Amino acid sequence: MKFRRFGRTNLNLSVFSLGTMRCLVAEEIAFQTVQRAIALGINHLETARGYGKSEQYLGAALRSGLALPREALIITTKICPTPNPDDMERQIDESLQRLGVDYVDALAIHGLNTWEHLAWVEAPNGCMKAVEAAIADGRVRHVGFSTHGFLDVIVRAIATDQFEFVNLHYYYFFQRHAPAVALAHAKDLGVFIISPADKGGLLYTPPELLQELCHPFSPLELTYRFLLSNPHITTLSIGAANPEELDCLGAIADQNQPLSAPEQAVFERLQQHQAQTLATEQCSQCYACLPCPEAIHIPEVLRLRNLSLAYDMTAYGQYRYRMFENAGHWFPGNKASRCTDCGECLPRCPEKLDIPRLLRDADQRLNGQARRRLWE
Ligand code: SF4
Ligand code: SF4
Repeated sequence: MKFRRFGRTNLNLSVFSLGTMRCLVAEEIAFQTVQRAIALGINHLETARGYGKSEQYLGAALRSGLALPREALIITTKICPTPNPDDMERQIDESLQRLGVDYVDALAIHGLNTWEHLAWVEAPNGCMKAVEAAIADGRVRHVGFSTHGFLDVIVRAIATDQFEFVNLHYYYFFQRHAPAVALAHAKDLGVFIISPADKGGLLYTPPELLQELCHPFSPLELTYRFLLSNPHITTLSIGAANPEELDCLGAIADQNQPLSAPEQAVFERLQQHQAQTLATEQCSQCYACLPCPEAIHIPEVLRLRNLSLAYDMTAYGQYRYRMFENAGHWFPGNKASRCTDCGECLPRCPEKLDIPRLLRDADQRLNGQARRRLWE
């Protein structure tokens, strides 16, 4: 397991972090998963107030005698932004109590997703007042934020200089946030990537076509290499549901080097295949078509369509698409079926795409039963 400096926190983090959202189903499984993670060299354990009983289970695991003492572990919890410091203060203390610890190494403002959330953290009498007090008396050692928001919100949040790390979405199949990663590095923030295996493409169960295109590597292995070959990225969360799901790490956690020629060749092959398959229907993810008066997240819908057509990633497309209109600011935007053919987006698209037609096609391919966030 390699370790990297987590930006200006100066913490030394393993390049993989255990996200405990999915192993919260039972105390015993949580304990075994944490033990296995530590045995593999992972020193960063991440939870959140909102993840059901995750904080309690992690706390129980810490008290049950893990292979490493508390001081050798880096524990992050996450708390949603609040409009006032009192709610944040109370929630910090509750999290510490559930975890059974005197301090957390890192607190992330959980889901800094909207301009309103940003206003709450920038307000002089907002939630950061309580976070600052907790840092001053040692209950919290470092503060960052996690986000599922748009790039402009993330960039503004980084630019506030209130944070020491950022936890965000960025993958081979979703590179929109590359400027946020670059800015975070320029400002010496640690960069923590949210669940590449799951959110980055449902890569524990990749479609056959994608496996063939990635050969001789696996799609998951390549995704991890794409991220870890970037020195601006500190650590990747692995949201294992049980100890066995950690076995896929293999030798990847020891590889720090730039992409090899064979790896680069596979990425070029993937790109060419997508361009050829989609031909004149490829959305280039420029986001120029927004805003849509019906609040359709056109680029994200068409990204999922790109992936479904190019790589058979339809299961992933359905998983994400079904969250539209069901997950609030955690997954903003209306479904493509809301398109009224008003045509406002058309002159803004540099690729001259017939956006309403492609949206209808995406809706047919990807719509189905609604899906909520895992922990709701
Ligand atoms: S044509 Fe459809 S997608 Fe485009 S702006 Fe109008 S409602 Fe939105
Ligand atoms: S403007 Fe066109 S190419 Fe750009 S994101 Fe929108 S649909 Fe895709």
